[in-house]
Amino acid sequence: MPSYDYDLITIGAGSGGVRASRMAAAYGARVAICEESRVGGTCVIRGCVPKKLLVYGAHFAEDFADAAGYGWTVGETAFDWARLVSRKNAEIDRLNGIYMRILREAGVTLLEGRARLADPHTVEIGGRRHTAERILIAVGAWPNLPAIPGIEHAITSNEALDLMSLPERIVIVGGGYIAVEFAGIFSALGTRVTQVVRADTILRGFDQDARIALATEMQRKGVEIRCESVVRSIEKTEAGYSLRLAGSDVIEADLVMYATGRAPKTRDLGLEEAGVALNDTGAVVVDEWSRTSLPHIHAVGDCTDRMNLTPVAIAEARALVETLYNNNPTRMDYDNVPSAVFSQPPLATVGLTETAARRRYGRVSVFVSRFKPMKNTLSGREERTMMKLVVDRDTDRVVGAHMVGPDAPEIIQGVAIALKCGATKRQFDATVGIHPTAAEEFVTMRDPVPEPSPEQE
Ligand code: NDP
Repeated sequence: MPSYDYDLITIGAGSGGVRASRMAAAYGARVAICEESRVGGTCVIRGCVPKKLLVYGAHFAEDFADAAGYGWTVGETAFDWARLVSRKNAEIDRLNGIYMRILREAGVTLLEGRARLADPHTVEIGGRRHTAERILIAVGAWPNLPAIPGIEHAITSNEALDLMSLPERIVIVGGGYIAVEFAGIFSALGTRVTQVVRADTILRGFDQDARIALATEMQRKGVEIRCESVVRSIEKTEAGYSLRLAGSDVIEADLVMYATGRAPKTRDLGLEEAGVALNDTGAVVVDEWSRTSLPHIHAVGDCTDRMNLTPVAIAEARALVETLYNNNPTRMDYDNVPSAVFSQPPLATVGLTETAARRRYGRVSVFVSRFKPMKNTLSGREERTMMKLVVDRDTDRVVGAHMVGPDAPEIIQGVAIALKCGATKRQFDATVGIHPTAAEEFVTMRDPVPEPSPEQE
């Protein structure tokens, strides 16, 4: 049996790569991890964490305004974007340090630089070669921009997190998670936001009622959402940028941001040369055990383009290490994975959309509640919450839960446990609510909405 420098080399120190590496080391494997940028990856350095800190920062604008209805005189407020960015960066530095420490304490060797497979068991980094019995690809994904004239003028979420100053007017192209989240941040901080979406509304793939509820609230807060619109070109002008849309509309902006999806970051890694199959979008092709076309090379997280969420990458990593290093074959379970969009207000979801549930189960009951949250009575804020349950009529099981409104991610996380346990609507109804909360609506929805007529479906 050949001897290798390491039992495992992981390429990419993001959420999935770090979790796999430290767990494997804890099970006794000799592990190295390669990183070309900063340990922590997309989530910690340029994704979930910095984004959520900006969401918190932006929300204060509403909080100050709402306080008046509760008797507070807030006085003049001032916002300093540069200060928020710098404090956010300090927190990212702290987390980056924690990740580095975790790896060090786990006994994982950090190899800094751009890694490349030199052969199926050899990783080359900084001119040095390291061999391993197994290799894990966890390189994540990167913003993907369409090739239109002037696209070089557009920024992505990477740059948006570290802008030197806030623009007066921004155009955000895309209707997905990232576009919607940044539209909320910039709009709350006073930037005029135009979101250009090619579909009929934002967040394709989410439940239709949730999509509409969120779009309505975003528009109420001042975001202009231009649906069924496609940008043909971007031109630099004296004042900023000029975007030409299909048709003949033109939008002027001080900044243009694209959030049109992300592509697996698998280029120039030597993967295909080594025999690792990629699909036509560049994603590493893996089986249910996260195994690539080479049995000793595995891949987890966004670079496999399965379900691109941090906790999923971590769960894939955990399953893989259990399988490889703890003699405990484990497959990732992708059913009822909850997720949230940190829009303003936030949207959260678990299970099937109404459309998907009808397709899968045929007969479903749908419960919808729309109301003004209690906090908005005294504040006078015109923001409504939407909550929805989708129930398989044959088994009475709740197969989907969706919410748009304050604290939706915190609430849906708990509901996700119930769905994971296969809870029925009757069990939801038998649960006593906590009063007064918004969450209690999920256990007090009594009457299903009328069945749609066949032509509405
Ligand atoms: P998404 O895949 O969510 O959305 C991409 C959006 O861009 C869609 O609205 C899509 O339209 C649109 N689009 C794609 N190509 C073009 C084009 N050429 N011209 C115009 N519009 C286009 O990608 P994001 O970049 O928002 O996010 C990437 C991933 O990151 C997501 O898959 C998500 O899993 C993850 N993420 C998760 C977050 C969370 O959990 N809170 C937060 C941020 C990101 P259409 O729908 O018509 O295809």
